[in-house]
Amino acid sequence: MAFKDIQGQDLVVQFLKNSIKNNYLSHAYLFIGPKGVGKETTALAFAQGLNCLEYDYLGDSCNKCISCRKFLGGNQPDINIIKPSGLSIKIDQIRELKNKAFYKSYESKYKVIIIDDAHLLTDQASNSLLKILEEPPQNTIFILVTPEPQQLLETINSRCQQVNFNYLSDEIVSLILREKYPEYEQGAVISKFARGSVGEAIEMLNQGDVLENRDNILSFLNNLEDMSIERLLAFAEKWDKDREGVKSFLEIAQIWFRDHLVWKVTGEEMLVINQDYLKQIKTGKYTLDRINRILQILHSSSSALKYNVNPRLILEIMLLKIKKG
Ligand SMILES: [Zn+2]
Repeated sequence: MAFKDIQGQDLVVQFLKNSIKNNYLSHAYLFIGPKGVGKETTALAFAQGLNCLEYDYLGDSCNKCISCRKFLGGNQPDINIIKPSGLSIKIDQIRELKNKAFYKSYESKYKVIIIDDAHLLTDQASNSLLKILEEPPQNTIFILVTPEPQQLLETINSRCQQVNFNYLSDEIVSLILREKYPEYEQGAVISKFARGSVGEAIEMLNQGDVLENRDNILSFLNNLEDMSIERLLAFAEKWDKDREGVKSFLEIAQIWFRDHLVWKVTGEEMLVINQDYLKQIKTGKYTLDRINRILQILHSSSSALKYNVNPRLILEIMLLKIKKG
C-alpha cells in the first residue's frame, strides 16, 4: 500500500510525503474525514513510508525492502492497528498498546500505531491514551482515524496534527469500483449515488437491491399521471410506518427530478446522476415549471418527515399533489 495506490486525496498525500521527506513529523496525527474516502488506506501508506528502508524521498515506498515486504505480508511488528472490539475500543486494548509503544522497536525506524474509528474509544481508554500522548514514547507515531473528531476528548484532539480528507469525485469513486468490482456493471450509477464515498458505494453494491428499488420507484412515478387513485393509495399503504423506506423514496425522487432540472438547465450529460436513464431524461415529459413545483413538493415532504408526521400520510399527500400537477 504505497502512496501511489491512493486515489483522489492528492493534498493529503503531498503533505504526508513532504513530512517524511523533510523529517518533519508529529507524535500524533488525527485523520479526519467522511467514511469511505481512504483515511485508513492512507494511514497504512504513511506507516509503510515511514519505515521503508529504501524510501525514495521524491516519492514513495520501495515495496521491496525487508520492512516493506514484511508490511505487505501483514507481519511488520512495528506497525500496529487497533480497531474497535465490538462497539468500542476498550481500556485493555490501550494498555496492551502502551506496553508495545514503550518497548524499543524491533528493527524499524518508527513504531506506528493506527487507531481506527478512534471516536469509539471508551472514556477510560481515552484517558489512558491521553496519558501516553502527553509523554509520547520516542520514535512512536500515533495515527488516529475518525469521521467524528468532535466525539474525541478535546485534550486528545489538541495533541494531534489534524489531517483533513475530502469527499472523492464521482470519477474517482467509479474508477475504484471498476478496479475492485469489475463484475458490477452498475458501478458508474452507484458511484453517483454514493456521493464521494467509496465506502458508501460498496455498501450499496452489497445491499444489491438499491438499483432495483430505484427502478420500481421511478417506474411508479412515471405512471403516476394515468394511475387510478385506488392504486396510488394502495401503493402508499405498503409504506405504512416505514419511515426509512419513505425517506429513501423521497431521496430517489429528489435525485430523479433534480436530474431532469440539471439536464434542462445545463444540457450536460455528465451532471446527470441516473446515468442509465439518460435517454428518458433527455426526452422527459416534464416542463421546467412542473419540475420546480415537484421539487418543492418533495422538499416540503422531507421536512414533514423530520417532524414526525405519519410517513404513509406524507407519501399519500405528496403523490396526490404530484399527480395533480
Ligand atoms: Zn521499502
